[in-house]
Amino acid sequence: MKNKRVIGVDLGGTKILAGIVDEEGTVHERVERPTVTTSQGALLDELADLVRSLPQDDVGAVGFGIPSRIDHEHGIALGAVNIPIRDVPFIDEMHRRLGLPVEMENDASCAALAEFTLGAGRGANDLLLLTLGTGVGGGIVAGGKLFRAYTELGHMVIVEGGEPCQGACTGHGHVESYCSGRAADKLAVKLLGAGSTARDLVEQKHPALAEVGRHLGVAIGSLVNIFGSTRCVIGGGYGVAAFDLLVPAARRAVLSEALAPSGAELEIERAALGADAGLIGAGLVGFEAL
Ligand SMILES: [Zn+2]
Repeated sequence: MKNKRVIGVDLGGTKILAGIVDEEGTVHERVERPTVTTSQGALLDELADLVRSLPQDDVGAVGFGIPSRIDHEHGIALGAVNIPIRDVPFIDEMHRRLGLPVEMENDASCAALAEFTLGAGRGANDLLLLTLGTGVGGGIVAGGKLFRAYTELGHMVIVEGGEPCQGACTGHGHVESYCSGRAADKLAVKLLGAGSTARDLVEQKHPALAEVGRHLGVAIGSLVNIFGSTRCVIGGGYGVAAFDLLVPAARRAVLSEALAPSGAELEIERAALGADAGLIGAGLVGFEAL
């Protein structure tokens, strides 16, 4: 059988994960490298190099999950917060380098699609996914379909005039300013001293994480009011590790902010596909290019 597999690529703020994905969403061979952040050209070359390092047998397309706003109409990656991507005709650039059909989607939308299809979102028709990693990403499945828009849910304002956001973002009081792994790293240094990280806060079950959970719940409650999500999946390395410490306070905030009875009915689940969600979702998106 030809072209029953694709290559999925999950471009993150700190690492790039690529693998062969079959129609069932199973990941076969995989590779991982640190994200090149020196320049856009170097990053695109690195992505192509990583794809070529995988076996190409029966591979019919490549799907990319990238932490960027995307102009689907023109195939352009508009801009990322934590990596050097800006106004690049990403589909054309990667097609030229790889000679294979290419599709792309926002990385957190990829994770949402994967969790919806194969993971913690199965059975839900209206899913909200938030990934708490280097930054905060978000994806929405509405009425059983992936909502293909910017979905930069991490850059929603939850505290007007609040903490400055990070990377290329000039905003203040965004979800990412409070609920990202980097925000937790900063909080750890402030509370526990130089050299401390988010990991220390989680290991100590630090009470300050309840405040982070409250911020997260305010964001979730607002998003439920907009999208009518009935299940919320929390992913990302930091989100999964800190899940049990964030959710009780998050749930209280959701109950207060979401219009009844949505808050009480909302299920909040830990992501089930782990670090593979973005990669699998990128693969599922890649199948659309076949
Ligand atoms: Zn922001």
